[in-house]
Amino acid sequence: MPDGTVKARCRKCGAEEEIPVYNIVNASENPELKQQLLEGKLFLWDCRRCGTSNLVKYPLLYHDPARKILLWLTDGVPEVETQMAKTVEAEEGLHDYAARIVDTPGEMMEKIKIADAGLDDVAVEICKYVTAQEMGKSGIDLKFFRLEGADGRILLTYPENGEMQVVGTGFSVYEDAAGIVARNKDLHISGLSRVNAAWLAEHIR
Ligand SMILES: [Zn+2]
Repeated sequence: MPDGTVKARCRKCGAEEEIPVYNIVNASENPELKQQLLEGKLFLWDCRRCGTSNLVKYPLLYHDPARKILLWLTDGVPEVETQMAKTVEAEEGLHDYAARIVDTPGEMMEKIKIADAGLDDVAVEICKYVTAQEMGKSGIDLKFFRLEGADGRILLTYPENGEMQVVGTGFSVYEDAAGIVARNKDLHISGLSRVNAAWLAEHIR
């Protein structure tokens, strides 16, 4: 059962509707909801008046007790983020979790895929940075897609000319990145934090 509502406005006809949404997805208790989240369905709303499919974003907490990750899709209000960070810090059961603030549904989906693949998101950010450099396309929006093959080739996606492209990089790049993370205290995270390209740019020298 959805546990809240959010007001959505159709991008085409402007109709407004109160739509039911979830505030929390617990991957262990509700694997079917996790699946809907990964497919993007939790963020799609079909307008009742004109049928247009709309993307809706709302605050959502994703909790995977088995993989020990907590993801908070924020609506960008700093006071709420500060409060959420305090709540996570005060909860002893969450101290060995990877706790992240994400800004978009796509980023939330990516973090879930990274955790499910057994990878560290900080190391993956470094892989993305290295891959973008190799492609000669800094500022490109690379996202982790999945591991491929026995040697665990890392597949990343990015949008280009209105289509989703895939680029692969060897697992050794990830291993090197994980080594950098292990050696660099600036890249060790405690508490609720953003880990994205902008964060990496601030923390890597
Ligand atoms: Zn509409």
